[in-house]
Amino acid sequence: MTIDSQIASLRARMEAARKGTPLATPSVTLLGASKAQPASLIEQAIAAGVTVFGENRVQEAADKWPDLRERHPGVKLHLIGPLQSNKAKSAVQLFDAIQTIDRTSIADALAEAMEQLGRKLDCYIQVNTGKEPQKAGVMPDEADALIEYCSKILPVVGLMCVPPADQPPAPHFALLHEMASRHGLKELSMGMSEDFEVAIRMGSTCVRLGRALFGERD
Ligand SMILES: *Cc1c(COP(=O)(O)O)cnc(C)c1O
Repeated sequence: MTIDSQIASLRARMEAARKGTPLATPSVTLLGASKAQPASLIEQAIAAGVTVFGENRVQEAADKWPDLRERHPGVKLHLIGPLQSNKAKSAVQLFDAIQTIDRTSIADALAEAMEQLGRKLDCYIQVNTGKEPQKAGVMPDEADALIEYCSKILPVVGLMCVPPADQPPAPHFALLHEMASRHGLKELSMGMSEDFEVAIRMGSTCVRLGRALFGERD
C-alpha cells in the first residue's frame, strides 16, 4: 500500500472508533511517529495531509527537521522520546510540544529554556502507568505532585503514556484519563499502531502512529 492509502485507511479506522463512543473526543490528532523514517517518506505523509509528527531523539530531529520545516511551515513537531536536561535548549528550538516530561529537573530546564528563547511549547507529563522500571515516565503515585509542580512553571496541556506491551492497554488509558480529568487537562496522548482504536474509545486526543503509517522501521 502507498502511504496515501495507508493514511486514508487509518483515518477511517480512527473515525469508526470515535463514532458512538461516549468518551471519544470530537477530533483526534493523527501524529506520525517518524523516528528512523527518511525525510522522503515524511514528505509523502505531509502530502497526504498529516500535519503533526513526533520524533524520539533531539539529535535525529536536528538532522532531519530544519529542512522539512522550512518547506512545510504549517507542520508541527512533538518530542515523544526521553529528554535530558542538557538538551532542553535545543529541544525548545526544534519542537512545538514536549510530550515526555517526567521529572522536576526536566521541567526546570525546559522552563528556563522557554524563558530564554521566548518560546512557549505545549507540555505533556508522561506517566509510567505500568510502573515498568525500564520505562520513562513518572510513577502514577508521584504524578499528581509533578503535574502540580509543572503547571506552575510550564504550559501543561495534557498527559501521555506508553502502556506495557504485554498487557491489555485499556486500564492504562483509563488511569491516564482519570488523572487528566482530575487536573482539568484536555490533551491525552495515548494509542499507537497496535492499540489506537482502544485509546480513541477511551478519550485519546492524539494517537502516535509509526509502523501503521510508515511501515516497519529499519
Ligand atoms: C515509536 C513510538 C510510537 C509509534 O509506535 P508504533 O508502534 O510504530 O506505532 C509512539 N509513541 C512513542 C513514544 C514511540 O516511541
